[in-house]
Amino acid sequence: MCIFCKILNNEIPSSKIYEDDFCIAILDISQATKGHTLIISKKHFSNIYEIEDEVLSHIHVIAKKIALMLKKTYSDIKGFNIIQNNEPKAGQTVMHYHVHVIPRYENDDLKIESVDHSDLYDLKAIQKEIKKSI
Ligand code: AMP
Ligand code: ZN
Repeated sequence: MCIFCKILNNEIPSSKIYEDDFCIAILDISQATKGHTLIISKKHFSNIYEIEDEVLSHIHVIAKKIALMLKKTYSDIKGFNIIQNNEPKAGQTVMHYHVHVIPRYENDDLKIESVDHSDLYDLKAIQKEIKKSI
């Protein structure tokens, strides 16, 4: 059984801040920033490829709710990163669908970097390739 299923089964402890029929929200043990929260589906789905659409939509509505709750709690929050990783290459370490809600503060040390590779790729060619898969 995966670690989040064990948390859902109360086999290992967690700091739960929200629960409904489809998901729970717990504080991430790593606390990338203060209030870093994970929203976890109650049913085990490994990733975005597997999760049922209804649960997926619901979890993202709850991400909004949690962000607003955190903002109400900590008035110094300056923004949020909502992150969801799929497969190890993308940084997924727990293979049970979850969304990170990460508050951002003025002087936090979290690094989420973007790179500009626009010189390497042709948007029109990529658009054409992807549209073939619809
Ligand atoms: P990801 O890398 O997207 O799969 O995220 C997994 C997250 O789960 C990491 O940020 C971990 O810190 C967090 N995590 C792992 N074990 C626990 C736990 N027992 N309680 C709370 N968070 C956990
Ligand atoms: Zn699980």
